[in-house]
Amino acid sequence: MDAAIMEGLHLKAGAVASVEGILHPITAARLVMEETDHVLLVGPFAGKFARHFNLDRHRSISAPRSLSYDRILAKQKRSRAERHGTVGAVALDRSGTVAAGASTGGIDSMLPGRVGDSPLIGSGVYADNRSGAVSMTGTGEGIIRLVIAKSICDHLVMGKSPAVAARQVLRMLVSRIHGSAGALVLSPDGRFAIKHVTPHMAAGWWNGTGQPTVRGQFP
Ligand code: ASP
Repeated sequence: MDAAIMEGLHLKAGAVASVEGILHPITAARLVMEETDHVLLVGPFAGKFARHFNLDRHRSISAPRSLSYDRILAKQKRSRAERHGTVGAVALDRSGTVAAGASTGGIDSMLPGRVGDSPLIGSGVYADNRSGAVSMTGTGEGIIRLVIAKSICDHLVMGKSPAVAARQVLRMLVSRIHGSAGALVLSPDGRFAIKHVTPHMAAGWWNGTGQPTVRGQFP
């Protein structure tokens, strides 16, 4: 699993990548942000770090010992990667501070050791009170290559609305490298957009009162 979290006031960030057996990897990412001088911990050392803080564990689903690289690579050639189990969030507090986070089990047919966009600051998540907060889902390889979360924030700084910024960057992802993704985008003044170039994206929003709104598609 991979996870990252970032806040927009001091640009503090924390992330873990390739961790196993932690129930909430985002909590480990937050501890990296709050308790260390680092941004990203990986693999067994990230797991050790989580154990040091007694984070809840779960039974790990590790890669099988007899791993067939040939089979995985053949499957990757046959079909586009399916995604599953990713959760992202963006938030704004009363003082105008934005934050973004993402946590994922990755994509189908991934090789052990593969790291997606979610723990990479600027790719899967970004937050800056001067631009906004972005959390991405989708095929990480494309999101990484175009540094999508930071690109959307750069569009926000230029004065574009969250909807326009997300649409333009996602279009570029599709046209330049046939990428596939969805974005949660929130600006410090409270405007937000949920955009995707995938057939579906389940997401919701809540403004602090009443019921949250949840949908499976966003035009
Ligand atoms: N972005 C994640 C990854 O590539 C997967 C996902 O969003 O579903 O690891």
